[in-house]
Amino acid sequence: MSDANITRAVGHQVRTVSGRNPKSASPLEYWAATANTVVAKLADNWEKTEETYNATRMQHYFSAEFLMGRALHNNLSNLGLLEEATGAFKEYGLELADVLEAENDAALGNGGLGRLAACFLDSCATLDLPVRGYGILYRYGLFKQYFENGYQKEKPDAWMEEGYPFVIRREEEQKLVHYADLTVRAIPYDMPITGYGTNNVNTLRLWKSEPMEDFDYNAFNSQRFTDAIVERERVNDICRVLYPNDSTFEGKVLRVRQQYFFCSASLQAIVANEIAQRGDVQRFGEFNSIQLNDTHPVLAIPELMRILLDEHGLTWEEAWEIVTQTFAYTNHTVLAEALETWETTIFERLFPRIMEIIREIDRRFRAELAAAGFHPGKIDYMAPINGNQVRMAWIACYAAFSINGVAALHTEIIKADTLHDWHDIWPEKFNNKTNGVTPRRWLKQCNPKLAELLTELAGSDEWVRNLDELQKLAPFANDPSVLTRLNDIKHENKVAFAKWIKARQGIEIDPDAIFDVQIKRLHEYKRQFMNALYILDLYFRIKDQPESEFPKRVFIFGAKAAPGYVRAKAIIKLINEIAVLVNNDPVVSQTIKVVFVENYNVSPAEHIIPAADVSEQISLAGKEASGTSNMKFMMNGALTLGTMDGANVEIVAAVGAENAYIFGAEVEELPDLRKHYSPHATVENTPGLRRVIETIGNGTLNDDGKGLFHDLLNSLFENNGWEPADVYYVLGDFADYRHTRDQMAQDFNADRLAWAKKCWINIIESGRFSSDRTIRDYAKDVWKIEPHRI
Ligand SMILES: *Cc1c(COP(=O)(O)O)cnc(C)c1O
Repeated sequence: MSDANITRAVGHQVRTVSGRNPKSASPLEYWAATANTVVAKLADNWEKTEETYNATRMQHYFSAEFLMGRALHNNLSNLGLLEEATGAFKEYGLELADVLEAENDAALGNGGLGRLAACFLDSCATLDLPVRGYGILYRYGLFKQYFENGYQKEKPDAWMEEGYPFVIRREEEQKLVHYADLTVRAIPYDMPITGYGTNNVNTLRLWKSEPMEDFDYNAFNSQRFTDAIVERERVNDICRVLYPNDSTFEGKVLRVRQQYFFCSASLQAIVANEIAQRGDVQRFGEFNSIQLNDTHPVLAIPELMRILLDEHGLTWEEAWEIVTQTFAYTNHTVLAEALETWETTIFERLFPRIMEIIREIDRRFRAELAAAGFHPGKIDYMAPINGNQVRMAWIACYAAFSINGVAALHTEIIKADTLHDWHDIWPEKFNNKTNGVTPRRWLKQCNPKLAELLTELAGSDEWVRNLDELQKLAPFANDPSVLTRLNDIKHENKVAFAKWIKARQGIEIDPDAIFDVQIKRLHEYKRQFMNALYILDLYFRIKDQPESEFPKRVFIFGAKAAPGYVRAKAIIKLINEIAVLVNNDPVVSQTIKVVFVENYNVSPAEHIIPAADVSEQISLAGKEASGTSNMKFMMNGALTLGTMDGANVEIVAAVGAENAYIFGAEVEELPDLRKHYSPHATVENTPGLRRVIETIGNGTLNDDGKGLFHDLLNSLFENNGWEPADVYYVLGDFADYRHTRDQMAQDFNADRLAWAKKCWINIIESGRFSSDRTIRDYAKDVWKIEPHRI
């Protein structure tokens, strides 16, 4: 399409969506118009891709969460329309950024797990792989966070209320989902997923629940208006909200309804295609495989059994054979409280037939293990049903042909610990697939200046499709002119971020300072608390010695806490109180500032990460399954300050210990360290700790008498039920953290080229953390699928 063509196409669409002359239209209307133009442009290729994939062996990716973020920039970039669109907007007096920033994030996920699913879809499309995503079209995405007096408040995120052209309703492909007390229509909304350098367009299918009839006409006619809409609301509830809890689960019955809803609808669609393609379900497992992203979609296992048994008349043995060929399970956590279990009564109430099937799976599991001579205690521990609890992870481990962890260390931990009984019996099921992130969104699009430099030096943009290509740029690690350009780009990105945060939250920051960033969900194991203790200690150190030279730093946070997670919210309040103390101090604020970015999400991440110097990855060793923000930072030339946890271990292996800042207890050391651990003695013996601990307890920082900060101190000094005091070893790791972080800041200032060299090595070694690598590994080892280019 030529410039004039796209200008005309956008102008036409603006008139269509706004009913006005383009001069008067809003950026949001331009966004919608351009989105329509994009959909029109890819329609033919999309349909062709669907037909091609439907006929071949397909992989289906089931996930309760897809944290997609914005779509327009990505699509324009993939279609090669970015420049032309920019030109078109200019003609109408708009900047590209005005239009892009008008788009709401599709925040249909909580954090890393949902963002991983989104990166995977991007890679599958780019690699021409026949993979389709399946999830839920939540009306409200993850809550919007705002601060009131430093406290987190939540409001609903009505992300598609004003329309969202990137999902297409496919009324004609609706399915019915039956619960004992309710039958609902499941309507697919398909989102096109474009790839880079390919015409293939993959699909994310999001299901929306709708009532069988919109309202009860008779009730309405006889003036019982409320009765008329009761059923409708009950049905709409199913897709109303994404559960804002990324580790444990609440709202049980509704949550289970959601899970079954999208599993059942998706399986019906897959089975229907199988029958359309091959006439029956006999070869289902040969042509279909399903990856379960964590345990949220595990109900797909008994649901596929139900479909094969009840609707297609297979015997139990035939059906189980297919099921065990079909499912693969990804584990995302070592936190025991996050392994989902549900009360059998919930299942009995919602779908007695599914419960019956789970009981039969349980019976056969027990018989199989008993016949193999296992101890009854072990069988009880591993069985799908325990008393009145159904254990979703155990159903997955039993039925799946593949069980994978998401980083090398994580996989070793689940084999040795979390899932070790399963590993003892079925070691061949276990494999590692270290997570990755898409270099399109997380480098090319969010950091165009760096992308341009890489393309220039590499002589092509081949690296966008094959990130390992960047390794060829290794010689430039010793080229001062390139390192200077890298520093300049980082500085420009920091200026841009400073402008963005000033406009957004009114705070001024100095782009010459070190930008030290921790952005991720707020969780005790991620230890934002430890970061806060350091800043408070540094505040006192600067107060003590206002004359001495402390490196200038901006401490940047972004994090949402689950609304019911009181302690996580207390940590947010604590950081915000420290920010008030630091930022209002006339002396200290000359050296350091604290910024808590409100409503952390994919789009803010795209602004923050290219501007970061320091990537805080400070979870207690053994707790973070992988992490993916660590990879995004690395790709953008920020250095990791981290523990030997999750994928940090592999990042250090890739770049060398001298190009990362690693501290803290390691997994193997912790049991011994714990034996002799005393939080109180640690406070006494660690420089800086006593003063900050006292400050948190003595009212200097205000929690309005709510006792929140006292509870935080309690978490450090009192054992809570089963857990020892300071279960996340915040105080234990503090001394090493402080030392390493101080050193890092010194190094930054001491030699800017030496720092840039480390950044360069991080960038060029980030190839193995491309989600393209992860997806190639899944495709080859687990999914057994081949590329099909249209
Ligand atoms: C990448 C990403 C995450 C995951 O961050 P971790 O630090 O790996 O936990 C969470 N939320 C958003 C918005 C992201 O982009």
